[in-house]
Amino acid sequence: MTGGLAAALLPVVEKSGAIWVGSSGRVREGAHKDPFAEVEALGTGALAMVDLPSAHYAGYYEGFANSALWPALHSRLDLVRVTQDDYQSYREVNAFMARALLRFRKPEAAFWVQDYHFLALGAELRELGVTEPIGFFLHTPWPTATIMSGVPHHRELIEAMLAYDLIGFQTEDDLDNFLGYVGSELGLDVAGHAIKSSTSTTRCGVFPIGIDVDKFAQQASKAVSHPDVSRLRKSLNGEKLIIGVDRLDYSKGLVNRISAFDQMLTSHPAMLRAVSLLQIATPSRGTIEAYGTLQSELARLVSDVNGRHGEVDWTPIRYLNKGFNQTVLAGLYRTAQVGLVTPMQDGMNLVAKEYVAAQNPGDPGVLVLSKFAGAADELETALQVNPHDVEGMARTLATALAMPLIERRMRWEAMMEKLRIGSIHHWFEDFLATLQSAHAVNDQAEQAIEVAEPPDLWPLRSVLGRDTIRFH
Ligand code: UDP
Repeated sequence: MTGGLAAALLPVVEKSGAIWVGSSGRVREGAHKDPFAEVEALGTGALAMVDLPSAHYAGYYEGFANSALWPALHSRLDLVRVTQDDYQSYREVNAFMARALLRFRKPEAAFWVQDYHFLALGAELRELGVTEPIGFFLHTPWPTATIMSGVPHHRELIEAMLAYDLIGFQTEDDLDNFLGYVGSELGLDVAGHAIKSSTSTTRCGVFPIGIDVDKFAQQASKAVSHPDVSRLRKSLNGEKLIIGVDRLDYSKGLVNRISAFDQMLTSHPAMLRAVSLLQIATPSRGTIEAYGTLQSELARLVSDVNGRHGEVDWTPIRYLNKGFNQTVLAGLYRTAQVGLVTPMQDGMNLVAKEYVAAQNPGDPGVLVLSKFAGAADELETALQVNPHDVEGMARTLATALAMPLIERRMRWEAMMEKLRIGSIHHWFEDFLATLQSAHAVNDQAEQAIEVAEPPDLWPLRSVLGRDTIRFH
């Protein structure tokens, strides 16, 4: 089993005939000589899992990608820890992946690069002579120019991004911040959403990622009979349930969230025994110091809340440091009257969308959502909160738990409409169509000839660089 992004994109690969090239999660000494570990067919498409070169893995993944870019992209410059070698490893792995991708090159087929692990991959592909369309999508936020300028080598790296024909962001704010950076730090002309450099034009746009809404809804209605879900239901004994599902990451606002639940129990004694919180916090990137520190802090906080509010036969917070597959998750979401999603900063937050899609239409739960999640732009009828305001979140939680059915339905229906409009299938088609037209502009400029028809979209070559969490 894999994480949500993979679950969302795999069906697209199956149907489209795309080849998804990603990290196998393994490293090998001789990887640079023989890059491919496995290629397997997936519907009309394929999955190619590459072993990364061991000499550069730590500096690339734990180093530059997750201890410089990830914290900076989430506006946490205080957590940036990086060495010169880490940056070199990051560039080496980007160049390595570009060489690996050449094996799949076919004239006119597009490359689509995913996420912050591969900011420079497009430039490496161009270095190798690739002239096909190359697009890039960033799943995380993009911070202000001032914050981005705190990343070592930021200019070189962001200049390298201009090799893409199209760069996609989750929200308008991310796009504005990126264009602001390009104007102020690189001194380039930005006309509309197009950046003109000496060699090419890079188009930028907003493409909020979605989920397969109907598939998720069906999964949720079936999942209620899954043993894990029915055991949870029985154990609740009529009690209400709030659910939180996150990777254990400092961007997710977990400390403030647990504190808000604590505060709600303190200020609403009638809630004791009447509502509990199920918080799934799936460990990730455990070898990075900031993640270990957070895990210890959360364990102490949960134990403190349970110690103060718990009874011999009642535990306020069920706190689980493990992963679940999406079928079980869908059933757990549907069991909960409130979905609590309170990131300090988040590219999109697919959990928020999944919680909504999983609800029972006749009796939907309430989504309490941070205004700093990318999903907040679309899910306007969620109860939106400021994750820095613990007391405000506590009050909103109480409001959510008491919300009458008619209001819950009204809010939920409006959110479902948004989710259907912005499904994963629309996201995919919209990005690709824009990529083709962005590329046609550069192609025309280069060849000084008219391109009569945009090239075929398929097969697409996609590189997925996200964390692939393995769940049992
Ligand atoms: N997820 C999962 N099992 C878990 C926890 C999370 O499959 O135990 C999935 C979840 O369904 C969601 C994804 O992981 O699709 C998390 O995506 P999100 O955008 O919310 O956050 P990210 O982890 O990408 O920062």
